[in-house]
Amino acid sequence: MTPAELIRLTALEMAEGLRNKTFSSVELTRAHFARIHEVDGTAEAGIHAFLHLNETEALRVAAEVDELRAGSQADTLHPYAGVPIAVKDNIVTIGQPTTAASKMLEGWMSPYDATVVRKIREAKLPILGKTNMDEFAMGSTTEHSAFGTTRNPWDLGRTPGGSGGGSAAAVAAFMAPWALGSDTGGSIREPAAFTGTVGTKPTYGSVSRYGLIAMASSLDQIGPATRTTADAAALHELIGGHDQKDATSLQTSWDGLLAAAQRRDLSGLRIGVLSELQGPGFSDGMRRRVDQILEMLGEAGAEVITVDAPHMRYALPAYYLIMPSEVSSNMARYDGLRYGNRVVPPGDATVSEVMAASRAAGFGDEVKRRIILGTYALSAGYVDAYYGSAQRVRTLVPRDFTTAFERVDVIHTPTAPTVAVPIGEQLSDPMSMYLNDVLTIPANLAGIPAVSIPGGLAEHDMPLGLQFQGPPRAEETVYRAAGAVEHLLEQDFGAPFYTRAPELTPAIIAEGEHE
Ligand code: GLN
Repeated sequence: MTPAELIRLTALEMAEGLRNKTFSSVELTRAHFARIHEVDGTAEAGIHAFLHLNETEALRVAAEVDELRAGSQADTLHPYAGVPIAVKDNIVTIGQPTTAASKMLEGWMSPYDATVVRKIREAKLPILGKTNMDEFAMGSTTEHSAFGTTRNPWDLGRTPGGSGGGSAAAVAAFMAPWALGSDTGGSIREPAAFTGTVGTKPTYGSVSRYGLIAMASSLDQIGPATRTTADAAALHELIGGHDQKDATSLQTSWDGLLAAAQRRDLSGLRIGVLSELQGPGFSDGMRRRVDQILEMLGEAGAEVITVDAPHMRYALPAYYLIMPSEVSSNMARYDGLRYGNRVVPPGDATVSEVMAASRAAGFGDEVKRRIILGTYALSAGYVDAYYGSAQRVRTLVPRDFTTAFERVDVIHTPTAPTVAVPIGEQLSDPMSMYLNDVLTIPANLAGIPAVSIPGGLAEHDMPLGLQFQGPPRAEETVYRAAGAVEHLLEQDFGAPFYTRAPELTPAIIAEGEHE
């Protein structure tokens, strides 16, 4: 197989090829680095999915896997050993920088590994590098990275979504078969939707967050970014499970996810459609495509049922009070003294002047905006009116879901109301960026699992995402639905969706424009 063919396999196909010794992990890992060097470019041109490459160590791990595979201990290897992976830059890694795409942490090396990183190291997955993101995961476009935006492989003039645009773009452009992301209000699912890939926000507590740089702790979850539902389920099984280092970690086991994703059967599945979230802000192309798909699902044996969720419209305003409140508290530790890069103003600076200078220089505008909003929402005299009301409203969202899940197995919505926006369009209009999260935020507020899969193309020939959400811990049902719909659409497209991603020629990369 040529390097170009190797990188286009799914992660599970790569794992199988390695087990059968059709190719080696060194060949496979090299093929991915060759692709990265070809298309990832720099902050100025190219995709710019990676902030750091881990080439020497990744190739060392790959060589170790190949050696073990050739020896008598081959069957002690993890079934996915040797399949490379990329890691979002807010997940800490020994031996590689972790910046969360912020100047505040530029140059910082973690002295410990996140639990998910420990797990992928134990399984011997070579880590390709760390992926770009909105600073501290705050944003929906990856433009709020302190180190330059990531570009969408489908159209380099558009954003790949965010905050995990780097992980999604790396996977979409065949620079990595799978990647880790984090999702506080949609940061795995929205980039998946915008890049024609798959992303999961697991049940709150199902994947350890030990070593995830906290954004909003009651909402954050780590999850997989992949090209297929089966790959997402496989990676979810690998990284999931109880961790005593994470106080919110659940005791549930996650063994049946891959089997569920591969069941490919929709018969009898009750799919709910939310009457309240059917229209607002949806582009025409999105609406048309979603209606078409719902019809196909009905024909394939699923039962499509409209359900009420009267409080869902309050999810977005509640999130944009709760999230910044938690952000203001989580960001307080970066003061240049205890954590974060220190900036000392000239003269006899006081401690608070050092803190102020460090925070002014270390944080970008979007992070500052959220710290200010959150500090206001928590301030004496306002806390009950803002944070308190938002917390009370928050309890209504899971209640709506619980009522809905009495009648349906999963709830379907598009993942985002529109396709990916042109770079720059939302930079001066944060409100339009926030509104984009209307469909992904409810799952974070309720702590429920949600998967986004590609649903085809809408406006500008850009991909759209279909989201499937289930009750807490019902990952199996969600993967069953997503896998079956993916299979149905694949038959309709005549090929897996990711094979439609446009070719990236050197001219396109150099120009930084797709058209
Ligand atoms: N786009 C959302 C926000 O800006 C979600 C971010 C995330 O999930 N990390 O807050």
